[in-house]
Amino acid sequence: MEDCLFCKIIAGKIPSKRVYEDDRTFVFEDIRPQAPTHVLVIPKKHILGLDQASESDAAIIGYCQLVAAKLARERKLEGGFRTVYNVGPDAGQTVFHLHLHLLGGRKMSWPPG
Ligand code: AMP
Ligand code: ZN
Repeated sequence: MEDCLFCKIIAGKIPSKRVYEDDRTFVFEDIRPQAPTHVLVIPKKHILGLDQASESDAAIIGYCQLVAAKLARERKLEGGFRTVYNVGPDAGQTVFHLHLHLLGGRKMSWPPG
């Protein structure tokens, strides 16, 4: 999608610190990290957000979680980690290309702010 920041990152039109890539996903460092590990796992397919996803997106939504778990293992986040899809304004979604936050490397509180 032409006007989408994350589609431009996938295409290499906007620079990013790439962490991992495969045929379905692209992973890069969040520009404003909220934890020692803070990366974004995004599908290469442009999906606006979890609230806009359809049944046919179920596999990629789950696959992003598995990619996050694999990276957490590689980064030895043995104490735990958190995966988050922010959805809509109340949750603070600012970029409308589905992205899964992987956060770890510090103790996190619950409930989140
Ligand atoms: P959200 O608030 O859930 O929509 O998350 C969007 C995330 O994208 C935020 O954590 C931002 O820090 C991050 N972000 C925005 N622009 C960039 C960029 N150019 N490169 C890397 N991360 C970005
Ligand atoms: Zn996009």
